[in-house]
Amino acid sequence: MRHRTARGTSTHMGMDASTNAADQLSPIIEAALRGDVTEQQLGLVFDMGREASIALGLAQSRRIAALSKTQAKPPGPHAPSGSVPPSEKPGAKKGGTGRRKPGARKGHKGSRRPTASPEAHRSIPPLTTCPSCGSSVECAAKFRTRIIEDLLENLSTVATEYTIPRHWCRSCKKLVEPGVSAAMPGATIGNRAVGLSAVLHYGLGLSIDQIRELLYGSFQTRVSAGGLVDIWRRAADVLSPWYEQIGEEARASATLHADETSWRVDGESQWLWCFCNQRTCWYMIDPGRGQDPLISFFTEAFDGVLIHDFWHAYSVVALGSEGEHQCCLVHLLREMKHVDTHSLPEKPPPMAADWSAFYKKLKRLIRDGIRLRNRPDFSPERYGGRIVLIDQRLRALAFAEYIDDDALRLAKRLRRHSDEIFTFLDRPEADWHNNFAERQIRPAVVLRKKSQCNRSDQGAATQAVLMSIYRTLKLRGVEASKAVTEALAAWSASGTLPPLPSGAAVG
Ligand SMILES: [Zn+2]
Repeated sequence: MRHRTARGTSTHMGMDASTNAADQLSPIIEAALRGDVTEQQLGLVFDMGREASIALGLAQSRRIAALSKTQAKPPGPHAPSGSVPPSEKPGAKKGGTGRRKPGARKGHKGSRRPTASPEAHRSIPPLTTCPSCGSSVECAAKFRTRIIEDLLENLSTVATEYTIPRHWCRSCKKLVEPGVSAAMPGATIGNRAVGLSAVLHYGLGLSIDQIRELLYGSFQTRVSAGGLVDIWRRAADVLSPWYEQIGEEARASATLHADETSWRVDGESQWLWCFCNQRTCWYMIDPGRGQDPLISFFTEAFDGVLIHDFWHAYSVVALGSEGEHQCCLVHLLREMKHVDTHSLPEKPPPMAADWSAFYKKLKRLIRDGIRLRNRPDFSPERYGGRIVLIDQRLRALAFAEYIDDDALRLAKRLRRHSDEIFTFLDRPEADWHNNFAERQIRPAVVLRKKSQCNRSDQGAATQAVLMSIYRTLKLRGVEASKAVTEALAAWSASGTLPPLPSGAAVG
């Protein structure tokens, strides 16, 4: 029996602001748009980090813009772009900026965004060599222009027209041009807005409508929900080597937590898997809940300690010479307590006595193991004798005879997992519980409740990539929106992705 209901309760000690953000930022942003944020909410946003603070700043700019609009003062020529309601910006469509359902209205064909009128101009320096073959190119024969709208440091927006030189390459026999770091090829939304919005959605749980209002509300051209989803998908494609690397680092780590939760893709039941430790967090969305996803993730024998609940599917993971399992003792204690509270009162006296004796012994054994591990001078070598005694007590409990069904059932489980209960005594780097995975999977659970998950397999893939990158960078103390923006900029300019940030040392 697997308890899912107890998630989010007292066993989640040390719930940090970043895992809480997924359900807390969204209502705060709504409050900011209405103009009634409390001091307590401001404190929460502060704890959630920089991106949440930027979102709050944007919400307040939107409110100021809305208020100045109701006061019917036309914006002066020097008004910052972000303070001008989009409906009053040049090139804006009339008819308000109210929210509407994502996607084109029924019966309407999709349409390209209308072009913004440029507020700034920049020229991209000419090339000397061809970006595809490296041979030298002729002077620019032609130029083209491209308009990109993006967010500025001061949270206002600007539409910049880039003049891009085009050169003839003799070896490629085609026109070649330099990349523009401001946006991905063909995109009209700049990389800064893409990086920030991806984090606000996949990391901090803001809805697509909220992001359209906050971030793209001050753009001259409307950004549709479909347009946003599409640009995030492209960003996830670009960043997929980072995602693969996170998976590889997880597979090579000394300890790894694993957990899974239900997920829906296009109305079908799938599973979100999470493999994580202090440095990496890798999500995978897969139709399977059994052994297949585990086999597809663990492509080679695992050589660390794999921490998970008592689910039998994990036994399929091939272990190397250093590989071991640790089953989550919080799960075990929770289930014992459940029997003791709910079933014990209904047991006939002999069974009740049998259960109570088993319960007390097993509880004391687990407590003794944890207490031993928590000694400040603990090392497996120093306490080797004590560890042997604990193992003997476990085996005695597992192989004793019982008449109570619950004691029989749990003793059978102890026999099956006897080498997976006290691994944390031989391998002190491993936790004796899976709280870490439950904490890392919780933000995804919140996103699931809010967004009904993904509408397509592609959407699920985007979600897995961007959530993994956000959570991993967060664990490494790296500001995710900045790292993603810089990575997209480097890739847009040169076609090469910088390395996945390793962040500060484990702390
Ligand atoms: Zn060339």
